[in-house]
Amino acid sequence: MKSLSSTACSLNHGLWVLVLLMFLAGPLGCDRVVDRVVRAAADRAAGGARTDLLDNGSLNVFLCGTGSPLADPGSASACTLVLAGGKAYVVDVGLGSQEVAQIARMPRASLGGIFLTHFHSDHIGELGEWAMQSWVAGRQEPLDIYGPEGVTRVVNGFKQAYSLDDVYRIDHHGLEYLPRNATDWIPHPVPYENGVGQVILEENGLTVTAFAVDHEPVSPAVGYRFDYRGRSVVISGDTDKSPNLVQNAEGADVLIHEVLLKEILLQISQIQADEGRDRMSKLAADVVDYHTSPAEAVEIAQQAGVGMLIFNHLVPPVPGMLRNFLFMRGLEPGDVEVVLGEDGMLIELPGGSSEIVLESP
Ligand SMILES: [Zn+2]
Ligand SMILES: [Zn+2]
Repeated sequence: MKSLSSTACSLNHGLWVLVLLMFLAGPLGCDRVVDRVVRAAADRAAGGARTDLLDNGSLNVFLCGTGSPLADPGSASACTLVLAGGKAYVVDVGLGSQEVAQIARMPRASLGGIFLTHFHSDHIGELGEWAMQSWVAGRQEPLDIYGPEGVTRVVNGFKQAYSLDDVYRIDHHGLEYLPRNATDWIPHPVPYENGVGQVILEENGLTVTAFAVDHEPVSPAVGYRFDYRGRSVVISGDTDKSPNLVQNAEGADVLIHEVLLKEILLQISQIQADEGRDRMSKLAADVVDYHTSPAEAVEIAQQAGVGMLIFNHLVPPVPGMLRNFLFMRGLEPGDVEVVLGEDGMLIELPGGSSEIVLESP
């Protein structure tokens, strides 16, 4: 239920916006204000996508979701966008992630594939939206969707749910603008076995490798490695500390690794138990054994010899400055540069160099 103070706050906010609009409408005239707003919206809809990131000779990475299933107003659920060789590829499509990419003007029409690490809801929730929105944005070809065994079932389920939407849009706008073949979603099961990863895609100089991680009892679960022009980024997916990930991340420039504050989760579980909320206590304790703590992620990065470690899939959600304090405290990173990921962060790895350019939102 909304409190009186929050209602008052939103009322005040609404009034301030109205006063500002009246202030602007005076000298400019209402019609001109509206005209400017409409033109800005038209410009955004007409494109203006960051196509410069598709083929600038770099391996580019955009964080479209650094959160988890737990609600966090500042973070969408799991999502990482990789842009190189003329296309954009998205790893996991958690709730809210499509909006983060859209607002940041990521070039969704050039979506070359979706890579799912496993099928927990915080990693697949917006599969339909990524497929549909990339089609509306201008994708012309069928959409390839990669994932471990089970991907066909997940893809077919989402496809069925979105099939009426396809019909509505084609009937309304016409096949000339929304080609039917782009509504095809093609599932590609990827191998799952410990050891050296399997190359699952090679195009335009980009190589994508899938490898097994340890998210037991969720199995299979995989991570992905992207190599382009001598640069590399590895995305862990959800996993406990995984020796197989260490092997497959060897020498990577950037490792994007999930993290969970295990002691905090256990404290939360204990508080729930003390308060007699046994069900919530059990659920909180259960998640500790199939994720990785920040200190463990640092050990993995050190063992793999990666240059930069970026934390994502931050559990639990923590507000403001406390976030940095809790996830970074007590770490001994040595030569590894550790970065707390946030939605909207852009990482550029120029080909043929060792430079890492990090742009915060
Ligand atoms: Zn998971
Ligand atoms: Zn997850």
